[in-house]
Amino acid sequence: MTVPAPRPGGEQFSHSGAKQYAQIWTSAVAQSGFLPMSSAETEQLLFGHTLDLAQAFLARPFTARPAYHVGRALVDAHLAGSKVIDWSVRALGEQFFAAILPGRRQTRTVRQRISSLQGQLAAGFAQALRDRTFVQQERISRSAWAARDMAEQALRESEARFRAVFAGAATGIGIADINGRIVDVNQHFAEMLGYSIPELRQINVAELFHEDDAAGMWELYTDLVQGRHDTARVEKRYYRKDGSIIWTNVSVSLIRHDDGRPRWTLAMVEDITDRHDLQERLRFQALHDPLTGLPNRTRFFEQLDAVFAAAKPDDRIGVCVLDLDGFKRVNGGLGHDIGDQVLTVVAQRLSDYVAGRGHLVGRVGGDKFVILIERSSGTQEVVAMAQASLGVVAQPIRLDDHQLTVTASIGVVEGPVAETAPVDLIKAADTTLYWAKAEGRGRYTVYDPLRDEREKAKTDLVAALPAALERGEFTVDYQPIVALADGTVQAVEALVRWEHPELGLLGPDRFIGLAEETGLIVRLGRWVLHRACEDASNWRRQFPDRRIVVSVNLAARQAQEPGIAAEVSDALKRAGLPAELLQLELTESAVMTTAGEPLLALHQLAELGVRLAVDDFGTGYSNLAYLRRLPIHSLKLAGPFVEGLRSDEPTSRVDEQIVDALVRLAHALGLSVTAEAVERAEQAERLRALGCDTGQGRYFSEPVNAAGIVAMLATREAGVIGDRLEL
Ligand code: C2E
Ligand code: MG
Ligand code: MG
Repeated sequence: MTVPAPRPGGEQFSHSGAKQYAQIWTSAVAQSGFLPMSSAETEQLLFGHTLDLAQAFLARPFTARPAYHVGRALVDAHLAGSKVIDWSVRALGEQFFAAILPGRRQTRTVRQRISSLQGQLAAGFAQALRDRTFVQQERISRSAWAARDMAEQALRESEARFRAVFAGAATGIGIADINGRIVDVNQHFAEMLGYSIPELRQINVAELFHEDDAAGMWELYTDLVQGRHDTARVEKRYYRKDGSIIWTNVSVSLIRHDDGRPRWTLAMVEDITDRHDLQERLRFQALHDPLTGLPNRTRFFEQLDAVFAAAKPDDRIGVCVLDLDGFKRVNGGLGHDIGDQVLTVVAQRLSDYVAGRGHLVGRVGGDKFVILIERSSGTQEVVAMAQASLGVVAQPIRLDDHQLTVTASIGVVEGPVAETAPVDLIKAADTTLYWAKAEGRGRYTVYDPLRDEREKAKTDLVAALPAALERGEFTVDYQPIVALADGTVQAVEALVRWEHPELGLLGPDRFIGLAEETGLIVRLGRWVLHRACEDASNWRRQFPDRRIVVSVNLAARQAQEPGIAAEVSDALKRAGLPAELLQLELTESAVMTTAGEPLLALHQLAELGVRLAVDDFGTGYSNLAYLRRLPIHSLKLAGPFVEGLRSDEPTSRVDEQIVDALVRLAHALGLSVTAEAVERAEQAERLRALGCDTGQGRYFSEPVNAAGIVAMLATREAGVIGDRLEL
């Protein structure tokens, strides 16, 4: 017997609950009839199994395998009646859970574990039974050979001896001639089939074959009577006289004339109907979800594999993966009973609609269903199925004291069978389901291979980011920010790049967003900040009079880090850079938190003495009145405003007025203004005329590396960019 080992940190189950469960289990087994052991011994045994199941249930990582062994052990202990296994599988659900973890709620994981345990228990039981049947068959067939030898002997010798062999046999025995006409049967055989012996003597064996077996049986029979084989063993159905069916194990052997010509066939027949029914029932249980009765995951994949195996070259296939929206809230808010009822109703509706049209619908997860469209005629058919399914799910659900409505999201995949494999098909459907959820739920989305590829590429990029940072694959370029009045370089903006070993040089637009989503921006941004401060410190040493400011972009996520001010101060100290030579660029959304409050760290940063700029100004929704009270030093006018200044079209008048107003407003608030994306002389000129302070863009210089900035500061003696800078 297994004793529960204390599992460090793991959850414990109730030992007394397990004891009680074993007691109930024992009495259920006892009620099913025959007990091969004493009641106390049985209870002892079942208690051991209960402990094994409870441990398996809580084990991390979870595996349902121990339940398989319990199933086998039950058969080995001769607790193999169909009622025993029925009870054992059913009770392993609610009853078992309530016993070992009293008062605990059933989560989705719990249910999944329970049904895996149930499935494995049934599977172990069924396998052990199959093994046992096999052993029995071996025994029977051995005795059949003995009987055959005797019968052969008897037939040759005398009718009287033959009868004696026949009559006493505990197996059904029948003899037919090579045309299938029944010559004789024993009482056991006749009873099995519900005929009298004389009636059977009038019958051809073929009349007893079940039509589904008939073809194969004939072949076998022909092989035998033509002397190609001497023996055959099959599991087959027979019709009884009343039309009902029995399942049998049949061993047929050939009896020859003395000269070797086939003479008779001798069949030994054993009735295995009960065992067969039980196995069918177990198979059903192993392949169906106990709550809704729908095919389960195993059954679904079995069918999917079968479809792929049997597919013709042009066959198409469709799959809808359906998941209820916000089902957790139903379970959490209304309780698991209601949750179960909702699932049952949804399953019933899907089954009526989908299965009613000849397609398979299965439950493959807590609130996840799948529809299989074999030999689909095209995407349209599968989409129609998805739409209809959304419709039936969304009908109001009336329960005893509740009426509620749930919606579902569906991922749809359809295509030629030849171009995919079962796992890929399901993976694609799951991905698409995720898109449908992300796009707002209550809808279906159709799989798009290009989108999948793009997203995979994105994921790969995210995954490669941390190692790339370690390996030093990032670099920083600097773009000059120039005084519009005299063309002198006032500052440079640090812009990060990724020298990707396979994809080449990647601009920040390819990876900054991802780095923000994953939080890696904090490490990446820290690296850029240090690099930029060091480069700026070098320029300061080489050009002490120039006081070039380095402007570093600060992502929202970075700015919200609690230690950001200390971080910036540390970077300045390490590089030996005075604070006033560092500017931090924050977007409007980063300056204001989502709650509409200004960023907490803003004042701390300003107190360090660094400059603060609002990046891409005009693309967000800044509260201008607020800006007044914040320690901001400058605004960077977003590219689109500047773009409007390049032509003489009427719209450019409007843009000019906007820029004019913005510059005036900024100046009134004591802020300087930098125009971004200045690409042409005429834009630079108009910006200057409007009183804009500085400009940045291709017109002055593309971003260049740190050495490029040194070259620029050195060759242009005063660092003046009089006209377009050529490098
Ligand atoms: P941003 O801060 O607005 O940077 C200006 C962008 O405009 C840069 O793109 C720059 O190359 C580009 N640009 C320069 N001249 C012109 C021009 O004449 N016309 C136009 N249309 N664009 C011009 P880049 O380098 O691709 O950077 C894109 C964005 O990536 C930046 O926009 C910034 O938001 C972000 N970024 C770059 N480096 C970093 C970084 O180190 N940290 C963070 N958090 N974000 C960064
Ligand atoms: Mg910027
Ligand atoms: Mg910008």
